[in-house]
Amino acid sequence: MYISEVRLIYVLIEINYLIRMPESFKVHYLSAECYPAAKTGGLADVVGALPKYLNKLGAEVAVFMPKYHMRWFFDKNFVVEFQGAFQLGSEYVQFQVERLDKEELGFYLYVIDIPGKFDRNGVYADSSTGIFFGDEIERNISFQRAYLTFINTWSELPAVIHNHDHHTGLVPFMMKFCPQFARLKAIPSVFTIHNQAYQGAFEWDRKYLLPGYDIWNEGSLDWAGKINPLAASVKCAWKVTTVSPSYMEELKRNSFGLEWLFNTESAKSIGILNGIDDEVWDPKTDSYLDFKLEGDVASFKMENKKILLKNSKLDINAPLLAFIGRFAMEKGADLLYGLIEGAIKGGNPMNYLILGTGDKGVEAGLKQLADKYPNKVTSFITYNEKLSHEIYAGADFLVMPSRVEPCGLNQMYAMRYGTIPIVHNIGGLKDSVKDYDGTDGTGIKFPNLDMGVMLGKLWEAQLIYHDKEAFWKIVKSAMAQDNSWNNSAGKYMEVYKDVLKLA
Ligand code: ADP
Repeated sequence: MYISEVRLIYVLIEINYLIRMPESFKVHYLSAECYPAAKTGGLADVVGALPKYLNKLGAEVAVFMPKYHMRWFFDKNFVVEFQGAFQLGSEYVQFQVERLDKEELGFYLYVIDIPGKFDRNGVYADSSTGIFFGDEIERNISFQRAYLTFINTWSELPAVIHNHDHHTGLVPFMMKFCPQFARLKAIPSVFTIHNQAYQGAFEWDRKYLLPGYDIWNEGSLDWAGKINPLAASVKCAWKVTTVSPSYMEELKRNSFGLEWLFNTESAKSIGILNGIDDEVWDPKTDSYLDFKLEGDVASFKMENKKILLKNSKLDINAPLLAFIGRFAMEKGADLLYGLIEGAIKGGNPMNYLILGTGDKGVEAGLKQLADKYPNKVTSFITYNEKLSHEIYAGADFLVMPSRVEPCGLNQMYAMRYGTIPIVHNIGGLKDSVKDYDGTDGTGIKFPNLDMGVMLGKLWEAQLIYHDKEAFWKIVKSAMAQDNSWNNSAGKYMEVYKDVLKLA
């Protein structure tokens, strides 16, 4: 065939697509978390915000999540939409789908109530003990099967199904290869990786938890001799996204054994930098703040610092460095003890405030550090949404010594609230923070996590704090950044349009 004929065919396909492309199309989000319903980290923030921005661009996004036994769910008026059941091995699982009106969150929220599986007080772990639930596989599979069973009954199917993280990673496989869901096979699926460190892999001897599937395609479930939901989704989804361009590249070089897969599937993969919900995270209107931004940034910062430190022994005039997050290796939380003690011993005049939970050893260490240096360190070993907002508003610096950071939202919230991020130059931190070079920048970067290098950067930070011209210049540049979803939502629209072209 001549080149010109090929071009003509391509143009005809494009025209046909443009004619058929609906003005607005339905997208279903599947996720274990969604702010404000249930949150443990950035996944919730993204799933609770992005749909609102996509809806403004013409999509119609509905979010599906499990119904947990948590306060937020008790207070809402859900409408029952569907009741169903399926066989999970020897267990007969019954479920109910309920819907919350669009006005409530800016998008339809469907919650799937599965008694015995999700009627608990935490998302992944018991909120009072911090102990992870032991039946993660059964819970995740139940949620995914309940969703597919439900939409299989719809007369008008969604245009795109977008699943988030490994908890929902088996959906593209089931749509493609389970005869029970053959009707859903032609719906394009998009998979977003918020954190590749968690893959949800389990042994093959539990394959009986899945509905019957085409045995010839069993290999799509497998990675390194296990059923791996994250790998299965990378193989079976029509498009794969992750939450920053740099992280997408890093996964090809280092992804806990999945490097080959990410390289092989790179043609259908893209990194899109997360945004923030600039309505929830607005220093002018933030309902968690007792003192909001009303013109003068310096008084906004000082008043919030006073609120933050009112019950502590920390000096209000010293630079305040904060950390917020999960105490996990990825976040470099284990480095905090040495970093803070090293800075104190080195005569750095900074004070330190920590909010987080996670690894019990890190929790104990940071508590001990606060006891040892009560005039320098305060630690809150808890999860507290209000306090996190107050810290973004009242701290001077926010440290993120992450070993891995797919995107990171903390640095974006910090910048919007006039707190200077000090971050390891990787993943989304690399893509969203501009290192201060003496004249211009929105933060400070650690080129690596060498303790001497990090201590040197903290020393530079306190010098900047005392150089008021430089300090306010960085604060103002950081606050001027538009990290809202307005920048990135359009890229997701392009992804949906690409898969709809293929459909
Ligand atoms: P993660 O890898 O944990 O998802 P992100 O940076 O993407 O990291 O998102 C973290 C989100 O969780 C932010 O909204 C942050 O403020 C919040 N967060 C983390 N730990 C706590 C905590 N202990 N209390 C309140 N908010 C927290």
